Amino acid sequence: MNKPKIIVFDLETINLKADLSPILCFGWKIHGEGGARCIGIWDYPVKERPFDDRRLCREIAKIMSEADAVVAHFGRGFDWPFLKSRLLYNRAGFLPPLRVLDTWKIAKDNLLITSNRLKSVAKFLRLKQQKGDSGGWDTWLNVVNGNKRAIAKMARYCKQDVRCLDAVFTALRPFIKDMPSWSALNNRAVCPSCGSQSCQRRGREITRTRVRTRWNCRGCGSWFYFNKDQLPIKSTLANSPPRSKRR
Ligand SMILES: [Zn+2]
Repeated sequence: MNKPKIIVFDLETINLKADLSPILCFGWKIHGEGGARCIGIWDYPVKERPFDDRRLCREIAKIMSEADAVVAHFGRGFDWPFLKSRLLYNRAGFLPPLRVLDTWKIAKDNLLITSNRLKSVAKFLRLKQQKGDSGGWDTWLNVVNGNKRAIAKMARYCKQDVRCLDAVFTALRPFIKDMPSWSALNNRAVCPSCGSQSCQRRGREITRTRVRTRWNCRGCGSWFYFNKDQLPIKSTLANSPPRSKRR
């Protein structure tokens, strides 16, 4: 089955404003696949210009250009506009018009917990992947001074953040209404959030003009609506969720 390519990512910077800081590093992983990766300004050194992030920005833009959507915590407020700003500053191209799935916003809109920071949400969800220890401001200072151990530490920390973010995203996925849909991509009725074919018909929704069948995914827990006449291409019964799962 085709699956949407969703890139989970995180940026580390020196300042929260893009005119005052380069991107130090970019951590990312493809949702649903293993292996978090990190590239940093230190991987693209420019002689005499230690804070030149132009080549790093170009590489990030290349990675992003293959995504169907991206995930970042407070991404709409920070990571995405910061990235756009640095690309523009460096004349390094433009990001594709991607859907930014912001786990901070999803937590804020759906949960009622003390803090919606990534660390708090991951802790609340009792996830195996928790946010790492950055070593505080010292790590940043040492990275800026080119200390190799600090650089390795920041890269490790950034990758762990991405793993934690992916786990948070997976847990919050059923709340997201504008996910790139698995059903649309495969032209068949599967769970739009996770692609599972194990779905149960559970109730209906009655609108002013029609009745829609309500389904529940046994994989991720998402609720969704599906009538076989909703498929974009003329459907057959084979496109419906597996019959044996129906009740
Ligand atoms: Zn699902």
